[in-house]
Amino acid sequence: MAEVYDLHCHSTASDGALSPSELVRRAHAQGVTTLALTDHDSVAGLEEARQAASGLGLRLINGIELSASYQNQCLHIVGLNIDPQHPSLLAGIARQQAIRDERAKLIADKLEKKRIPGAYQAVMLAAGDGEITRSHFADFLLANNHVATQQEAFDRYLSKGKPGYVQTLWAGLEEAVAWILEAGGIAVMAHPMRYKLSAKFMNRALVAFKQAGGQGIEVVTGRASDDEIRFGRQLAINHQLHASVGSDFHSPDNQWVELGRLAELPRGVPPVWELF
Ligand code: AMP
Ligand code: MN
Ligand code: MN
Ligand code: MN
Repeated sequence: MAEVYDLHCHSTASDGALSPSELVRRAHAQGVTTLALTDHDSVAGLEEARQAASGLGLRLINGIELSASYQNQCLHIVGLNIDPQHPSLLAGIARQQAIRDERAKLIADKLEKKRIPGAYQAVMLAAGDGEITRSHFADFLLANNHVATQQEAFDRYLSKGKPGYVQTLWAGLEEAVAWILEAGGIAVMAHPMRYKLSAKFMNRALVAFKQAGGQGIEVVTGRASDDEIRFGRQLAINHQLHASVGSDFHSPDNQWVELGRLAELPRGVPPVWELF
């Protein structure tokens, strides 16, 4: 049977709609044979996912998606094959989670000044035990008819330069990579096509990433166009990084992104799973 990899997705441990076990069951039903659960700054879903996966014969890769700061720009670093109990990683995650809680209060304060009260209580309730993300704020804005779509919530309130945006100092890029390496994992630059950075900045960031010990880059993601895949492939070649594939699935409500529904990895780049 052909292997089907999906090495980037989210559960209710961060901003995903499905519990870890629901997510694993859906991945299996979609034909995924190797799945990495990569919640934002959290490993809390991995144990439940592991149990669900073992019953189905699906290979689960322990993963995470860390938010990192590089020269005032937020970059997402996926860690694959990590030891979720490694002390350095756990200490790092605890710091990121404190930053998330603090940022959530600041975002809510900013929305309140725009006469949108009650956001903090709402996102706390929605996130439950999971990490609070801007997606939770987007859902709140949507549910209270301040916007018509999630996208509009980002465009009008939550993106850089908008009234609900809070500049955040995440872990440094080198630091985030170090946590992943110390936990025995492989660090992968997430969705390079999504940052809208200049070529110069992107290259500088990838040189720093590689220098820190980063080994992979996502070349195929959920909604990537052929051009975006070519772009990712070229970055992988230029910086001698292994190529990863991941849907970045968050919810069954998004009809454009499905677990395991990914373009084929283009030729000429070594797959990241060679490193597993
Ligand atoms: P955070 O890490 O809390 O800043 O939240 C980032 C998450 O918000 C991402 O992982 C996406 O799931 C979501 N997100 C970010 N930007 C957008 C956007 N423009 N439209 C829809 N979702 C977005
Ligand atoms: Mn997300
Ligand atoms: Mn991301
Ligand atoms: Mn993601």
